[in-house]
Amino acid sequence: MPYCRECGKEVSTFMAFCRNCGVKLNIPQAIGEKDDKGTKSPAINSSGNGASSEIPPEIKGWNWGAFFLWWIWGIGNNTYISLLTLIPYVGQIVMPFVLGAKGNEWAWKNKRWDSIQHFKSVQWKWESAGIIWFVIAVIIGILVAVLS
Ligand SMILES: [Zn+2]
Repeated sequence: MPYCRECGKEVSTFMAFCRNCGVKLNIPQAIGEKDDKGTKSPAINSSGNGASSEIPPEIKGWNWGAFFLWWIWGIGNNTYISLLTLIPYVGQIVMPFVLGAKGNEWAWKNKRWDSIQHFKSVQWKWESAGIIWFVIAVIIGILVAVLS
């Protein structure tokens, strides 16, 4: 259902003004969409605006690319807080989990993306690279353990 972005009341797209708060609805930014779960998708793409970026519910979830690739992912996604993974022990143990949990949100806020689809396809590439890197690291670890 479409809703008024000013007051949150449901509106119809035929209405010129919101019945609740009177805001003009005939501009696209005034109307948002609710999906079946009642979550509100932002009507406009506000990625790359830092704290004022709205996070689309579609991108929420674990970020494996950030979890595996740490500051390499961070530099590629303008998320420099990931440099904390350079701190031995504490940064390396705690930060990967923080990056996995918050990576999608931070990347959306810190970098401009063409669309949700664009964001997802780029993050999927990071995820693939991260998993390949992880597998190679495990193999090297096993080889070192076996050969030493
Ligand atoms: Zn309203």
